[in-house]
Amino acid sequence: MILLLNNTITPAELNDLKNLLDDKNFRYRHLLLNLKQVLIIYKFPQNFDIQSIAELQGVAKIIDVKEPYKLASKQWQNSPTQFDVNGVSIGGNSFNMIAGPCSVENEDQIFQIAEFLHKNHIRFIRGGAYKPRTSPYAFQGLKKEGLKLLRKAADAYNLNVVTEVMDVSLIDEVSEYADIMQVGSRNMSNFYLLSHLGKIQKPILLKRGMAAKIPEWLMAAEYVLSGGNEKVILCERGIRTFDDTVRNTLDIAAFPIIKELSHLPVFSDPSHGTGNRDRVIPMALASVAASCDGLMIEVHPNPENAMSDGPQSLYPHQFESLLPTLKTMLHSTGRVMDCEVEGQLI
Ligand code: PEP
Ligand code: MN
Repeated sequence: MILLLNNTITPAELNDLKNLLDDKNFRYRHLLLNLKQVLIIYKFPQNFDIQSIAELQGVAKIIDVKEPYKLASKQWQNSPTQFDVNGVSIGGNSFNMIAGPCSVENEDQIFQIAEFLHKNHIRFIRGGAYKPRTSPYAFQGLKKEGLKLLRKAADAYNLNVVTEVMDVSLIDEVSEYADIMQVGSRNMSNFYLLSHLGKIQKPILLKRGMAAKIPEWLMAAEYVLSGGNEKVILCERGIRTFDDTVRNTLDIAAFPIIKELSHLPVFSDPSHGTGNRDRVIPMALASVAASCDGLMIEVHPNPENAMSDGPQSLYPHQFESLLPTLKTMLHSTGRVMDCEVEGQLI
């Protein structure tokens, strides 16, 4: 249940409302979202006549959201969430491509990729500086040095930066260099991190936990939204199944299901979703057919020598070969890439 409050509600009226809810043992949270004041009621006494609250001073509307995720649900907001990252639109009818290596490795590597992406009119570069690795002995990323290199390369080629934030202690540092902060699959259930990311205004790309059900993923998004940050992008990156023929199983059905349940944009990461570069392009196109709003793809100038995820990283020529088909598919459904207006490059 969400109470939308009148913008003109006075502090005294708000206090009265809260006192009444407290007296009746309601559990709720008061939030200011995009200049809208709301009270999210997540627990209320059984048999309570909710209409009696609708009549109280200061309450504009009651929205009965049945799902446990409230702000992420379509019952709260039917229209697709759309926002802008330095002039590039995300969500709605927009389609975005985020590409780059798994990890930032050195200046030469990241500049080569940045130049390549710029040449292909890509707007977002990815690259991990803080890497969540299964082995503590594996390359852990260049950390702050990697963030600086990524930002430098992005600025030289007019790209926006997407990079992972692994811990609350790194939020300030990463947000200084990133335009979009990624939460990795392993951190999807780090609720402390998510609630802190709700307090900043940078967009959050929230990867699906590799063993997370769709409602759990949406509840993770709810942590960010309920902190006051409405700029959340979901990213399907494959789940663990019984089948180890693939690194992960990209859940293509997740795209139409998310569209049914939520207004949040949902991207596809067919690189982690398959673990093998030869499967990345077919699964990227399948995700587009299944209504994803963007792609995140790993591409490396020299995948054989990549310090992480080489086998799933596309060669630059493979990445280039995807673009015409991708655009044709998008155009056939009245959509365009973020580098085009009505099918023309901008
Ligand atoms: C990544 O994008 O580099 C990454 C580690 O992804 P995930 O969290 O999906 O494994
Ligand atoms: Mn990777």
